[in-house]
Amino acid sequence: MKIILASNNKNKLREFKNILEPLGYEVLTQSEAGADIEADETGTTFEENAYIKAKAAYDITHLPVIADDSGLEVDALGGEPGIYSARYAEEGKRCAKVLSKLEGVPDEKRTARFICAVCYINEKGESFTVKGVCEGKIGYEKRGTNGFGYDPIFMYGDRSFAELSAEEKDSVSHRADALRKFEKRIKGE
Ligand code: IMP
Repeated sequence: MKIILASNNKNKLREFKNILEPLGYEVLTQSEAGADIEADETGTTFEENAYIKAKAAYDITHLPVIADDSGLEVDALGGEPGIYSARYAEEGKRCAKVLSKLEGVPDEKRTARFICAVCYINEKGESFTVKGVCEGKIGYEKRGTNGFGYDPIFMYGDRSFAELSAEEKDSVSHRADALRKFEKRIKGE
């Protein structure tokens, strides 16, 4: 059965394919399915935004769809950047913005987490959403060159996410956690 990934992000496509192909799904990106729309992320939670993205692709294709929405929550910033992670500052300046806002904040108050909500809609239009989490801390400087986004400042133990290999990150990340929960739910359908 075909399933549409409501994203054209190559990293996400690889992770979703790894889980879904063994279950018999053929994963297509939304542009491959001729449904290349950018839904407005007007929700107030990761779950709502994942649903909005999935629903926009479902309304065009009427095929099974999955979508995700993810971001970073920093406790000392009241949960910022949260759902605004992708729009928090100009590209290349987001890590620096978080670091400068945390200047003088002691280690024990630098707790943070990456969140990933995954929404699935089947061909009948029925949906469910799961949420994955990865706990860590914000470091004091950018470290490492792997990954993307906030990875260089997100400390997982004594290494930043950007210092982990792709395989290491994929085994512990918020997206991996959400995909494991998603896999359990979809197998139980
Ligand atoms: P989305 O594509 O709407 O889910 O936006 C997610 C945004 O959150 C990205 O642009 C990144 O800034 C941030 N983000 C999500 N997941 C990660 C991750 O694994 N590493 C670093 N940043 C991430």
